[in-house]
Amino acid sequence: MEGITVALSKGRIFEETLPLLAAAGIVPAENPESSRKLIIGTNRADVRVVIVRASDVPTYVQYGAADLGIAGKDVLLEHGGAGLYQPLDLKIAKCRMSVAAPAGFDYAAAVRRGARLRVATKYIETAREHFAAKGVHVDLIKLYGSMELAPLAGLAEAIVDLVSSGGTLNANNLVEVEQIMPISSRLVVNQAALKTKRALIQPVIDAFAKAVP
Ligand code: ATP
Ligand code: MG
Repeated sequence: MEGITVALSKGRIFEETLPLLAAAGIVPAENPESSRKLIIGTNRADVRVVIVRASDVPTYVQYGAADLGIAGKDVLLEHGGAGLYQPLDLKIAKCRMSVAAPAGFDYAAAVRRGARLRVATKYIETAREHFAAKGVHVDLIKLYGSMELAPLAGLAEAIVDLVSSGGTLNANNLVEVEQIMPISSRLVVNQAALKTKRALIQPVIDAFAKAVP
């Protein structure tokens, strides 16, 4: 294809990316929330946007089905980053990766005792690395959503999940017991496309870089 394809997810990433795209002179023709279209044209004939699941953005870019994309650090750590050039932290969709447990659970004591901890999470790789670095033995249970339910239903003692305001944890009587790392979204570029389509891609990278606070 002559032009470039940008992979974005619906929701907060799409909304927070709009000002960056505008800074690069790119305006999507439709909002994916209302249009339900998965391929969206822009004001520029040589730029189109594809709407994919947040966790699928690195895969589309890795295989060159999209030339660029925007993905959370959480998603990139799980994907591993193969084939991806990550030139910019865009400082959007900010939150943090944390360990949370029921309000009454003594997490520090459980970790000190050295017993195995049952942890439910969507972020298996990140959780594995975190607990390995602390020397804590864990049984990791993979979930795809509603992590907060796991300790309440007796599936796990703790969860590893993204936290921003803490409102969801609070509503489910969970407490953030440890912060693992800050999370924000990054621009990812297909390494081969960067070479073959540099004239189209580099100006987008430069405009994004200037627009990041
Ligand atoms: P889905 O909701 O389709 O299961 P998802 O939860 O990964 O997928 P979003 O909720 O749109 O999709 O999150 C997209 C990205 O935004 C995440 O990968 C993360 O980097 C970031 N994010 C997630 N939750 C928050 C939050 N509460 N505040 C700020 N950024 C967040
Ligand atoms: Mg979500």
